[in-house]
Amino acid sequence: MADSKFCAGCQRSDEDITAVSWCSDCSELVCKACSRVHKRMSPPHKVIPTQEIQQLSSSLLTLSKNCDNHPDQKIALYCCQHDKAVCKSCVPVSHQNCKSVISIEKAARGVKDGTAISDLERRISNLCQVTESRRSQSEKTLVDLDESRTKIKTRVSEIKRKVIAHLDTLEAEIHKDIDSKYTNCTESVSRNRNIIQSSADSLSTWKSDINSLKQHTSEVHLFQVVKFLDAKTYQKELEIREIQTATVPILKYHPSESESKIKKLVRAWDGDVYCTDFDNNKLFLVSSDGTEREIYISPGLEEVGDVAVDDCGDVYLRGCSPDNIHKISNDEQKHDIVLTADDGINGPFCISYNNETKELLVLNEYGRSINIYKKT
Ligand SMILES: [Zn+2]
Ligand SMILES: [Zn+2]
Ligand SMILES: [Zn+2]
Ligand SMILES: [Zn+2]
Repeated sequence: MADSKFCAGCQRSDEDITAVSWCSDCSELVCKACSRVHKRMSPPHKVIPTQEIQQLSSSLLTLSKNCDNHPDQKIALYCCQHDKAVCKSCVPVSHQNCKSVISIEKAARGVKDGTAISDLERRISNLCQVTESRRSQSEKTLVDLDESRTKIKTRVSEIKRKVIAHLDTLEAEIHKDIDSKYTNCTESVSRNRNIIQSSADSLSTWKSDINSLKQHTSEVHLFQVVKFLDAKTYQKELEIREIQTATVPILKYHPSESESKIKKLVRAWDGDVYCTDFDNNKLFLVSSDGTEREIYISPGLEEVGDVAVDDCGDVYLRGCSPDNIHKISNDEQKHDIVLTADDGINGPFCISYNNETKELLVLNEYGRSINIYKKT
């Protein structure tokens, strides 16, 4: 309803009198005194108590009684041909040839029970049903979107957790392996060091014994000593030579070997992870639910390495000696050796698939060149 609470007529005379009613003929608020005047007009104006119009849209209460084209003219006529309410000035301009131009009162007569209002009511209630159904659908979509977002995020976090757990396990395995090799090496070196130390002690004692005996003992005794120590020294010569020729144990770090142990992890298009096992030439698929499954092993696959996934979800696998590229269809039903030495595959190192250009990139000749193969 209108913002002002005062009688519009009295406000025009600079008086603020609280309105109690609304005149539907004048589209304005009226006070008690003015409402009596409006009711006595000829024909009488329809005056409605304000509490009855409180719920009504203000846009309907302030509908202008005047013509849009001629703001100083009241709407008094209705052209049936144009289905339009007009003022007297409109007729000679736009409706001079229209056959049925009638008074607005006549046109409005019986509107309450007419088909125009029932049609409008039906259309509004139809639209209400449509909007209600669209609204609840939108609510549901919002809930679905939120659920999907949460699900995807949880899934990604879960994959991350599993990949990290997997890498932690592999790291622990490699550490354990290195520790055990270290212990073997140090034990062997310590053993040799003790042998050498004890030999050095003996040799030094023998040296000083000989020096001393040369000056003091009998020739026969010295002869016996020489024979005795000759045999002993021969033993020492053998021991030391053995140590000299033995390989010095060292701990080696082979990046390629470690990489093969840390199974190569490749992010697949659907969130699954493909892993290759260098030692056993197998391809595994780790699903987002954590299950690991062997999906490919082939007699023609040796030194399995890098994995790439194309835009269709087909998987490419690098093999070495024989140098080749295997392809496994995304449903795992078909597999084939798609590229060999005849196609220029020679010492393939890494492979990668470019989704935009649909090309398979092969880092060839142990990293010295890149071959690009277009997907057909
Ligand atoms: Zn008044
Ligand atoms: Zn009035
Ligand atoms: Zn007009
Ligand atoms: Zn007309």
